[in-house]
Amino acid sequence: MARLTQADLVDLNHTFEQRTPQELLQWAKQTFGDRVASISAMQMSGTVVCHMIKSSGADIPTLFVDTGVMFQETLDTRDRIINEYGLNVITLRPELTMEEQTEKFGVLYLTSEGQEQCCHARKVEPLRKVAGDYDAFIGSLRRSDGGKRAVCPILSVDVETNTVRINPLAEFDDEHLEAYIKEHNVIVNPLHSQGFTTIGCNRCTTPVLPSEPKRAGRWRHLGPWSVYCGINPSDRDPTHSPAIDLPQELVDRILGRMTDYMI
Ligand code: SF4
Repeated sequence: MARLTQADLVDLNHTFEQRTPQELLQWAKQTFGDRVASISAMQMSGTVVCHMIKSSGADIPTLFVDTGVMFQETLDTRDRIINEYGLNVITLRPELTMEEQTEKFGVLYLTSEGQEQCCHARKVEPLRKVAGDYDAFIGSLRRSDGGKRAVCPILSVDVETNTVRINPLAEFDDEHLEAYIKEHNVIVNPLHSQGFTTIGCNRCTTPVLPSEPKRAGRWRHLGPWSVYCGINPSDRDPTHSPAIDLPQELVDRILGRMTDYMI
């Protein structure tokens, strides 16, 4: 095994700033083969990535973490993606139902500490359980969403799952996103037209006012709008230098040492 650090990805991230999301998806498939999957919460940017995967013809599965307390509209959006785009969407679930968790630990999401525990058990753990099957995950973070996402890199290392995280839409601003959705008539979670700028569990997500930040509707009951679930590596503590372990041959391939394939 070889070590791959965030610092190793600096040059590649710099190069990738000039690439389109479709080119980045193509690179992901070429580099990781069957060991790459996308992760989608069935929000607007996630379904745009689903559409790009469908359009590219790349055989990339999509992982959807169903926390057991998702909005029905989100589950319906997932089903439309399966039926209309023909994508292989794999639904992951936490070990305990929300009822079992509440019986065991109480209503966790009402406090900051409990929220971390709840999000870890219901979002991060289901992904960790299947992480051994993958070397890379494709996300849909965009810098224009602000907060910690304002500086999210295209490529990052995720120590929780020992994988590379790829965000092909990092540079896609709201204007680009809306234009892409319109042009391709992309399936969009109907909650977005009801005032939800971001969408998570029904316990912790509300619509926002036009004057509020985009993430104001997430964990509103916990105060300042700076809470994240921890499923995205770039949302975690940026002060340490993360690293993951992958086969040497794969690290060489990621960093372009073994091939002249450059997009
Ligand atoms: S968003 Fe709320 S309900 Fe969902 S996993 Fe996190 S704390 Fe639990």
